[in-house]
Amino acid sequence: MDLKSKIREINDFPKEGISFKDITTLLKDGEAFKCAVDKIIEDLKEKDVDIIVGPEARGFLMGTPVAYGLGVGFVPVRKPGKLPGETAKFEYDLEYGTDSLEIHKDAIKPGQRVAIVDDLLATGGTMGATAKLIEKLGGEVVAMEFLIELEFLNGREKLNDYHVNSLIKY
Ligand code: IMP
Repeated sequence: MDLKSKIREINDFPKEGISFKDITTLLKDGEAFKCAVDKIIEDLKEKDVDIIVGPEARGFLMGTPVAYGLGVGFVPVRKPGKLPGETAKFEYDLEYGTDSLEIHKDAIKPGQRVAIVDDLLATGGTMGATAKLIEKLGGEVVAMEFLIELEFLNGREKLNDYHVNSLIKY
């Protein structure tokens, strides 16, 4: 299936000059959604994954069906102040300023094999920070899976040490 044809591109969103990749048009197409999730599951088959982590918010949409398909658990990574339990935090740089992400401290056990799933790889900042959080808790990041990769932003270079897979490339 041509998954790229299911993505809607919206120009000048959220800012002028940005061509936003809208995944909702793929998600509402049952066949395309299933195909995308199955492809990610296929790439993870040999990785002996114990748990899936997904960053807020579109990482939840892609990550939970992958976890269900593999028969493993799902752990959310969220913006500060959203998770009710005790959290670990990682702060990372943006073009202007900083941002941070949190994970429940007891979500990952040391030595667990973790795959991270998100909708889109841009600069790699979100994925890099998510990996750091998992490693802080003693987990091993065995794969990073994306529906979309914006290759011209070279996010993959930032994630050199990891297995990175994406289904649709721009
Ligand atoms: P990065 O941290 O620069 O790699 O940005 C990736 C994050 O930004 C992902 O979690 C995406 O959800 C979001 N993002 C950036 N650009 C787009 C886009 O065009 N469509 C959907 N999400 C995007």
